[in-house]
Amino acid sequence: MPTVWVLGAGQLGAMLKQAAYPLAINVEPVEPESEQLPNIIDGDTVTVEREQWPDTPVTRHMSQQRGFMNADIFGKIADRFHQKTMLDTLGINTAPWRSVEVNTKAESLHAELGPDVLLKRREGGYDGKGQYWLYEDQGDEVPTDWLGTGIAEKKIPFNEELSLVGARDKDGNKVFYPLTLNLHSNGILMASISPLSRVAHLQPMAESMLGKIMDSANYIGVMAMECFRVGEQLIVNELAPRVHNSGHWTQAGACVSQFEMHLRAVCDLPIKAPEVRGQSVMINIIGVEREIAWLKIPSTQCYWYGKDVRPGRKLGHININHPQKSAVQTALNELRKLLPENYQDVFNWVEKELKRI
Ligand code: ADP
Ligand code: MG
Repeated sequence: MPTVWVLGAGQLGAMLKQAAYPLAINVEPVEPESEQLPNIIDGDTVTVEREQWPDTPVTRHMSQQRGFMNADIFGKIADRFHQKTMLDTLGINTAPWRSVEVNTKAESLHAELGPDVLLKRREGGYDGKGQYWLYEDQGDEVPTDWLGTGIAEKKIPFNEELSLVGARDKDGNKVFYPLTLNLHSNGILMASISPLSRVAHLQPMAESMLGKIMDSANYIGVMAMECFRVGEQLIVNELAPRVHNSGHWTQAGACVSQFEMHLRAVCDLPIKAPEVRGQSVMINIIGVEREIAWLKIPSTQCYWYGKDVRPGRKLGHININHPQKSAVQTALNELRKLLPENYQDVFNWVEKELKRI
């Protein structure tokens, strides 16, 4: 088995490493700022846990390797201008948008995109960072540091946010997990729920959208597509050419997790339709110290990333999975008591959504 080198050494790389063990694949996450170049040899594979990376000796070295998967696509997806252009070219529904040029005026953005316009940095934004709302009724101008560095999007009055995680192998075979319902707060993912029978009728549409994107890029590995649901329509918000936070529930709720699926695809091992078991809910741990009592709750898996605790930072996640929804709810009730006040809304949302699945 080859070594799979992962550009980036955060929690996604660590979870890829964990998933590699039963396949006897050696996964080596690499810190982009590291002073030591990874010893990549012929036959090794290079993949990523992030689509944006600084220009360092390590990133230059890794991206020049023959085994660097999907080399052509990262630049396109990492820059929202190119990502949105790609979606438009493929005829895939996405929020109407304009490029913010050095001379773009708020007035013209509002004329084309409506009274509320969301500016997004072309590169580097994540977890809602790198966004700026421009409100016509407040007479906002485009801040100077956004000129030439962003795109502007129409505000989508979505019913809810759904994501699809899929994988494609080198022969073009594709597999998908069921659509996942996501709750964001201030742009950061707080909770995911999957599967949901009430959105199952949207699954074929979502699969054909993501399938078309992956095919067009000759993509190999796991890709995630974040969508807005507006009525019966899906509108693509953004793409991630990697394993994705909204797929973490697959660690507990699918026979092959998104992490293992990605490794299978990039190592040219068979990918297979992931049989999903029971009901899954994932709760992200944001800015909260670890609590040992979480480990006692039945039907849960706790992941703690070992990062320094900072407000708003993703520090871990808890997967809850059980064949019966009532047992999932019982675990949520226990967990609710162990998380801070600001999580009440999250648990209320999950409880409400579990009832209408
Ligand atoms: P990030 O890279 O930070 O995840 P996103 O583009 O996914 O950036 O935006 C983060 C969140 O902001 C989304 O999950 C959604 O809740 C909200 N959002 C993004 N774009 C729009 C839009 N056009 N209209 C309304 N809400 C949006
Ligand atoms: Mg997003």
